[in-house]
Amino acid sequence: MKKNSYKNKATISEKLKTISKREADLFYSLCDKKPNVIKTKNFKNALLKSGLKINDNRLHNLFRKLDSSGDEIYFEDFKKIISSSELLVEKALRGELALPDFSDFSKSIDKMFDEVIKNKSGELASYIPPLAKVDPDQFGISIVTVDGQIYQKGDYNVDFSLQSMCKPFNYCFALEKLGLELVHKHVGKEPSGRQFNDLTLLTRSLVEKSQKKTTTIPFNPMVNAGAIMTACLINSDDSYKKRLNFVKEQYGKLIGWSAKSKFDSKFPRFNKNVAREENFTGHNNLAIGYLLMATGNLPSKKKKPKTNINTNKDEFDFYIEPSVTEALKLYFSTCSLEMTATEIATAASTLANNGVCPVTQNRILKQKTVRDCLPILQSSGMYDASGAFFQQVGLPAKSGVGGGVFLVVPQLMGICIFSPRLDEQGNSVRGIEMAKQITSKYLVHIFDGAMTNADRIDPKIPISRWRANSCGEAIWAASNGDIRTLERLASEQKDLSVGNADMRTPLHLAAAEGQLEVVKFLLKNGVNPVPDRWGGYGYFDAKNNNHKKILNELDKLNIKFSKPNHFVEDPEGKTDRIAKYDDELMVSELLFSAARNDTTRIRQLIAKGVPVHAGNFDSRTALHLAAAEGNLETVKLLINFNHPLNVRDRWKSTPLDEAKREKRKSVIIYLKNFK
Ligand code: GLN
Repeated sequence: MKKNSYKNKATISEKLKTISKREADLFYSLCDKKPNVIKTKNFKNALLKSGLKINDNRLHNLFRKLDSSGDEIYFEDFKKIISSSELLVEKALRGELALPDFSDFSKSIDKMFDEVIKNKSGELASYIPPLAKVDPDQFGISIVTVDGQIYQKGDYNVDFSLQSMCKPFNYCFALEKLGLELVHKHVGKEPSGRQFNDLTLLTRSLVEKSQKKTTTIPFNPMVNAGAIMTACLINSDDSYKKRLNFVKEQYGKLIGWSAKSKFDSKFPRFNKNVAREENFTGHNNLAIGYLLMATGNLPSKKKKPKTNINTNKDEFDFYIEPSVTEALKLYFSTCSLEMTATEIATAASTLANNGVCPVTQNRILKQKTVRDCLPILQSSGMYDASGAFFQQVGLPAKSGVGGGVFLVVPQLMGICIFSPRLDEQGNSVRGIEMAKQITSKYLVHIFDGAMTNADRIDPKIPISRWRANSCGEAIWAASNGDIRTLERLASEQKDLSVGNADMRTPLHLAAAEGQLEVVKFLLKNGVNPVPDRWGGYGYFDAKNNNHKKILNELDKLNIKFSKPNHFVEDPEGKTDRIAKYDDELMVSELLFSAARNDTTRIRQLIAKGVPVHAGNFDSRTALHLAAAEGNLETVKLLINFNHPLNVRDRWKSTPLDEAKREKRKSVIIYLKNFK
């Protein structure tokens, strides 16, 4: 455990401090003016803002207790209220859920949505009347994280036809029942490079019992032939009714339905009409069924009926193999299940979560099943566009001609987009575009691991932490003279001139702290001096501290360094102490949050036990930053949390000095009131 030297919570009752620091920090982070009581409304809002939903099963008891709590809650009651879901509440309040910056993330997906909705290209699927009749303008997206945060927009609650999106799930159900080896006796693992309904099968040579044998099987479970095959493998001895019910139940479980609970998600809907139409027009699929029979993949279970040839007539009892009919019937039926984008995103999130449903925490699929399924999705999920799609988007995904496409971001989230206009391959046009936009902004491509692209954001990390990370290590190393770390960062191609919330860079800090070797190293590595918030380049920091050798180095650059504009009204006035907190990265994050007026993140850091008046290397605190940027909301919040007013930075400026220098009127008035 890190030592937290900050104990300035004088205003919280002594009793509270001694009980449970963890719970007390959570409670304290929700406080407004009064330090011993929180508003019920604020608590509820904080949970909802983190992306959790009011109908979340896991929070059912908690919300019920909140509803009967009145407007305010005291610490003792708070503890009782959160007891049924304490860890989830803790994660939410500390910003530790899968998507920590849920509101920022939501806003940027909103923006993409507004952009993509303009795209009206593509055509509806027209091979069966019910699909040709849907409203082509529909557009919805839902994102469900492995922690059960839910983002949804547009037509996210509209039932649509699963179609080919059933294929990976059916494949999983078959794997669960029969295991990898048996399933793949009947279906391959290779991309077909062909259209989904192509009649070509994969021929492969097997060496069995030292006899060479050739088998012919579908390419993979994501093309129709393979999907008809896997459908056939699911509980093949049961009646159609039982099998369909089994499949529906499994889908239900993937989306959080359970036979027992009162707060169930809905059970998947079966659209009989779509299934009938699939049957009437599915000649190609019928052909595939027979092809599978002919190649020995479908087991002929039923005996031929006794021949009874009436010799008087040119007639015979035409035989249709029942196992072909059965395989197709179940395949057509699962294609005709209907679900909403949020439900499918939840199922996708179950895959992202290694088989555990994020909203019920029940294990639905074995880890192994999911691990075996996702690679096939990756190589074959997007029909014959799978290769290009994976290269660009980098996520296992599956589309269906009903207009849905889902993506799995392993260990993070499931995404489902619904928009029925399709491109030539049969993929939702807007679905693909949305997916591309998401990976172009966020580092979620499976192979993004090694990217150091600062323009893209890792959604698993809060924005201010992301910013703090991108400069924190280098600044820390520069201040402390840690050349090794700087060498490593340089070899990783990290930009060593990235500044902190005051645009102070490693060079500024090295100059200020007299780290001559670091200054030399940075200059040798092509780092150019850049101005900080006050227009300073570190030159005057070195001068003020009498670091002559550093001045010599900087003089060699032949730059005329302007004098930074630090404003200090009363250098001898009252001085409050800043707090020392030994996790510099966290302090840097706090300062970034203050600079961007992110009060949610500040509360989360308070919930983690970070003192609001912690200072960085330049003795800058969150209040300095909030005042300099004119962020009144943050200024108020910090002062409510007892941030002292007369903290002085390296140059003796107080937050009020900063507000004055930047002419932040409302902040000046507010701060003066406290003097
Ligand atoms: N039911 C459709 C078919 O088998 C599913 C195809 C799809 O979504 N690509 O043709």
